[in-house]
Amino acid sequence: TDIEQLLLSRIRDVADYPEPGVMFKDITPLLADPAAFGALTDALAEIAVRESATKVVGLEARGFILGAPVAVRAGVGFIPVRKAGKLPGATLSQAYDLEYGSAEIEIHAEALTADDRVLIVDDVLATGGTAEASLELIRRAGARVAGVAVLMELSFLGGRPRLETSLAGAPLESLLTV
Ligand code: 5GP
Repeated sequence: TDIEQLLLSRIRDVADYPEPGVMFKDITPLLADPAAFGALTDALAEIAVRESATKVVGLEARGFILGAPVAVRAGVGFIPVRKAGKLPGATLSQAYDLEYGSAEIEIHAEALTADDRVLIVDDVLATGGTAEASLELIRRAGARVAGVAVLMELSFLGGRPRLETSLAGAPLESLLTV
């Protein structure tokens, strides 16, 4: 579609970042273009509304940039999932494996209730490790999952099959798939 073409044209491939052999998808040109950023916000907010989300959870750091305007547009609250040690209140934390080593993410323990339906928003789904840990956090916080919505899915990294169990039937929506 025209919107997919517009979004794709504003994502820049950067070779060998953050390490040799990786082709990084840089979304900063998209953020700098108000037509593209607006179209992206609208498309993700449409998913939030369609899935009756009551909260948008954004994943640090680019998930904050995308998730915040989506939450405002959809008329729901924004909840940050942050790297360990950044949130001031009582938190739930979840560790997950990276290619080398591990990472830990956190959510405020009181941020969600059993009445919440949460849409997770991020820019890129790669291996799915970050989204999988976030789904676990949301369930542990006692909320339901409305879905996961990303700008771009790197399908060759296997994130979609990895998330199947944790999604438990909730949709994984990617506006672009490469
Ligand atoms: P995963 O946990 O799915 O392997 O990695 C996803 C996380 O890493 C997301 O939070 C995403 O922002 C970041 N990420 C991984 N690869 C890329 C990439 O090529 N471009 C961008 N913009 N982010 C990426």
